Amino acid sequence: MLERINDKVTRISIEEPGRGNVNVYAIVSDIVTLIDCGYNSPHSRSSLHADLAQLGLHPSGVDQIVLTHRHPDHAGGAAGSSLPWGQARMIAFPVPDQLPLSPSSISTRKRYMPESLWSVLLDANGTAPPPDEDSSAQAIRFDRLVQDGETVDIGGGKLTVLHTPGHCADHISLMGDDGVLFGGDAVLHNGPPALECLDSYTNSIGKIAACQAAAILPGHGSVIDRQDETIARTLNRLEATDKKLLAAVRRGIDAPFGLALECTEGRIHRGLLFWLDVVLVHLFSLERRGDIHLTRSGEIIESIALAR
Ligand SMILES: [Zn+2]
Repeated sequence: MLERINDKVTRISIEEPGRGNVNVYAIVSDIVTLIDCGYNSPHSRSSLHADLAQLGLHPSGVDQIVLTHRHPDHAGGAAGSSLPWGQARMIAFPVPDQLPLSPSSISTRKRYMPESLWSVLLDANGTAPPPDEDSSAQAIRFDRLVQDGETVDIGGGKLTVLHTPGHCADHISLMGDDGVLFGGDAVLHNGPPALECLDSYTNSIGKIAACQAAAILPGHGSVIDRQDETIARTLNRLEATDKKLLAAVRRGIDAPFGLALECTEGRIHRGLLFWLDVVLVHLFSLERRGDIHLTRSGEIIESIALAR
C-alpha cells in the first residue's frame, strides 16, 4: 500500500503475514533513497518491489538505502545472497563495540522463570515465539557508517542523522529539510517499543521532541502528526511502569519474575516473556537512578530492595 506524504516522500506499507505492518519510505528526487527495506522474506520483497513499480521505480534504480537500525523487519531486505539493489549504497550507524546485554536472550529468561513454566512459555526449541532472530542483517556490506549530526544527501535536500539509541544501540532517526522525521522504531503509536536501555531511550525521545518535526514517519503504523501527544503518552507509560514496579517492591515482591506477574495481573501466558524483558530494563534504570538496590549473582538479579 502506498501513501503519498509530500512531493518527494511516499510511505510503502508492507503487511508481513503473522507479523503486522512495516514501513519503507521512498524519497524520490534527483536520486532515489529508501529508508529501511522490510523483512528478508519472499513475501516482503515481492510486495516492496510491486509497490516500487507503482512509483515507476525498479530495485536496481535505487541509489541508496538508509537503515534506521539492524532489526530484521527493517534491515532484512538489505541482506540476502541475491541482492536486487544494483549499486545502491547501504548506510547505517555503526554497531557499538559494547552492546548492552540483551535481557531477552533465552538463557536469561530461563534463569528468571520457574522451571515448571519453561515448557508453557518457551516452545520446544527453547526459543520464545514469535521467532525474531535473523542474523542476516549482520551480513550487510555497508558503504557508509554515519555518526550523529552527519548529513545524507538525498538530491536537492538532505537528511540529518540523529543517534537515537534505546530500542537498540545502533538506532538512528533522520530529520529532513522539509520538517518530516523518519523515526524508525523510536516513536510508535502504541507506546514505547521493546527497549534495550531505558535511560538512553528517554534521552533519545527528548532529542526527537526537540526537533519539533511537522510529522514523524514511524517504522510501523500510520504517520504521527501529533507528535507531542504521542511522545507524552509514551513517556507517561514508562513512568507508570516505574511506579507500578516500585509499589510492588514496596509490598515485598523482590524478584523480576514476580514483578512480571504483577504486570500481567497474575496471568500466565506468553505475554509474560515480554513483561519480563520490560521489568528487567526498568529495574536496571531504577538502579542507575538510585531508587532500588539490586543484589546480583553474576549478571542475574537475585533480589530487589528499595533504596530509600
Ligand atoms: Zn526494531
